[in-house]
Parts: sequence; structure tokens; C-alpha cells
Amino acid sequence: MDALTRAESLIALTPDYPEPGVLFRDVSPLLADGDALRTVVEALIAPFEGRFDIVAGIEARGFLLAGYAAALAGVGMLQIRKAGKLPRPAAAVSYALEYGTATIEAPGVLHKGERVLLLDDVLATGGTLAAAQSLIVELGVKVAGSAVVLELEDLGGRAVAGDVHTVFTA
Ligand code: IMP
Repeated sequence: MDALTRAESLIALTPDYPEPGVLFRDVSPLLADGDALRTVVEALIAPFEGRFDIVAGIEARGFLLAGYAAALAGVGMLQIRKAGKLPRPAAAVSYALEYGTATIEAPGVLHKGERVLLLDDVLATGGTLAAAQSLIVELGVKVAGSAVVLELEDLGGRAVAGDVHTVFTA
């Protein structure tokens, strides 16, 4: 089994979470495995080599990926946080959830012209990633690319979030 196939096998399928009828993909075992984590983060950033200046992670699992990716690439990391967690948010974007809305925020730490690589664990309906892309634009800089570990193809996120690099699809 190659390293990527082994990493994919570590994503745990969890029925009826967070509510009945939903099949949740839990990346916890993959994150906990050193070889799998390195293999997946390398695959996440490979297409963007030399084309980004900072990595943004979406709270919470996106932070883990972005921190690792930033260290590998020798760049910094931008936090994209749920509303109310940052002392001085520089931009905020609200987006629709199945029930209600959510808001994400980011600090004003970017420099003019910085190219941001956006990472998250799972692409489902695409709302979260699309909102994060808008947030980067609100901050006045460019999105260098977006990448996720796992795309849930049936949920149509690609149509909402645009061109997304995905390591695994389900
Ligand atoms: P979306 O906005 O519907 O694309 O949902 C994506 C966001 O919800 C991401 O930040 C994911 O972390 C989370 N998410 C949705 N479905 C799953 C799943 O099956 N496993 C892990 N995270 C999920």
C-alpha cells in the first residue's frame, strides 16, 4: 500500500454524526499518525510550490494542516477564526449554514501583495471555503489557491468554492 492510500485508510467513517443520517469523515486518526500527516500535508501544498507567501487555516482542523504546511514551506500562518475569538479582527464574512448563519474573521496581519494558500480538512457544501476565500479578498490580498484533504463530491462544494485542490475524494 502506498503512503497516500494508507493515509486515506486512516480517515474514520462515523455514521450519524453530528446528527442522524450524516456520515462524518473523521480525520483524527490521520492527524495522529506522523507518516500519514506528513504525506498528506506534502500532497496538499505540492501544486502550489513557490506560489504562496503565507498559509491560512480554517479553525479548527485547518489550523493543524496550515501550521504544518507553513513550517514545511518556511512561511507564516494566518488564522481564520470563528467569530468572537480574535481581539482585533480586520475582516469578517458571514455565510449560510443548513440552519442559520456562521461568521469567520481574520486578524490584520497580512502585507500588501502576499499570496495566501487556504487549507481545510473537508470540502462539503463549499460554504466555509468560499467564505474564507471572500475573507482573504476582504483583507486586500490574493488567494494563491485552496486545498483540502478530502472532497465530498456529492455535496457539490466545487461549484461553490471554485478550483480546489483535493488530496482525496469520496
Ligand atoms: P462546508 O462549508 O459544507 O463545505 O463544510 C466544510 C466545513 O465543515 C469544514 O470546515 C469541515 O471541517 C467541516 N466538515 C463538514 N463535513 C465534515 C466531515 O464529514 N468531516 C469533517 N469535517 C467536516
